[in-house]
Amino acid sequence: MESNIIQLGGPHYKICKCGCKTEFNGRRNQKYFPKHKAKVNNKAAAKRREKLSPTFRKMEKCYSILVKIRNLNLLDQWIPITDLTRDGFDPNIPSNSIKTKKDGIEFSKLADFAFRLSDDASKIIIHQIKL
Ligand SMILES: [Zn+2]
Repeated sequence: MESNIIQLGGPHYKICKCGCKTEFNGRRNQKYFPKHKAKVNNKAAAKRREKLSPTFRKMEKCYSILVKIRNLNLLDQWIPITDLTRDGFDPNIPSNSIKTKKDGIEFSKLADFAFRLSDDASKIIIHQIKL
C-alpha cells in the first residue's frame, strides 16, 4: 500500500519520444530524456526557419554591402546604384519603410541603415540611423 502511494508521486518509467528509445525515469507528463528535449526543439525551430532562410541570407548580404559602403565613407551622398548591385545588393530587399519628419521623403530601412533611390533609379543615398 505504502509503495503504491510513493509510486503515484514519484518517477515514472518513460521511453524518450525523440526516436532514440532511451529508457528513463521522469515526471508523468515528461516526453523526452532531459538532454534530448533541446535537440527536438532546435530541430523544430530550424524547420520553421527553413522557408525564411533564403530571404535572411539575402538581407544579410545586402546589409554587409551597406556596411562596406559605410566603411568606404560613402554614406550621406548620392552614389551610382551599380556600385552596390554589382556586389549583389538588391534595393527591393524586404525592408521597413520610413519617412523623414521634416519633408516626408520615404526611405527603405534595413536595420540601422536607411536608403532611397533617385527618381531614375540610377543612384542611391544611404544614411546610418540610430536605433
Ligand atoms: Zn531521445
